Amino acid sequence: MIKDNIKNIRQRILVATEKCKRDPKEVTLLAVSKAKTITDIKHAIVVGQDCFGENYIQEGVEKIQLLLNLGLTWHFIGPVQSNKSRLVAKYFDWCQSIHSVKCADRLNYQRETSRKPLNVLIQININNEKTKSGVSLEKLSVLAQHVSELPNLRFRGLMAIPALKDSYHRQLIVYQKISEVFQNLQDTYPSIDTLSLGMSHDMEIAIIAGSTMVRIGTAIFGTRGRA
Ligand SMILES: *Cc1c(COP(=O)(O)O)cnc(C)c1O
Repeated sequence: MIKDNIKNIRQRILVATEKCKRDPKEVTLLAVSKAKTITDIKHAIVVGQDCFGENYIQEGVEKIQLLLNLGLTWHFIGPVQSNKSRLVAKYFDWCQSIHSVKCADRLNYQRETSRKPLNVLIQININNEKTKSGVSLEKLSVLAQHVSELPNLRFRGLMAIPALKDSYHRQLIVYQKISEVFQNLQDTYPSIDTLSLGMSHDMEIAIIAGSTMVRIGTAIFGTRGRA
């Protein structure tokens, strides 16, 4: 049951924040509804879930259009292909996967000035993994500076999808490093407030390291037919 799963995740957030003496209100639960139906999403809405993440642009736009005027917030969390960015700028409230100056410029240009700025996170690739998108740490400060100056984007923080390590300790080191990068960036940009880190299998360790947003798909909606 989706409703029970959401309550269960909220409980897991509560336990994890208690463990590290953080306020549970600091951690936002983003429900990742990719490959799931409108009916599934409605089950989540019933128990108060109001922000959703989508990876596939067409699918996301369809859902947004079918669920208008419910006060929902939509996050684009997939790779932003240049031919799809117009739809991200037009329909979404957040884009978590900014990875280049070009991508940021395009979204800024495509976001209508009459709308609220698009909230954006820069996706970082902490160990320069070849299979993952995201900017390297070396290029982060230049990109952050650039993004912070674009009028139609609102720079909110960082997103990361770290690879799994073979031990809890090694995993924690990577997550703490990401959190440190986030805090250093916050010294330069005090208005950034979001570290999007942690999924179904690693949300506890992400929260302990300092995550302020966990992106949960499988543990809410069950397994997906496609990745
Ligand atoms: C699919 C996806 C998630 C959700 O992952 P689960 O393991 O199903 O919780 C989170 N973040 C991103 C970027 C994703 O693509």
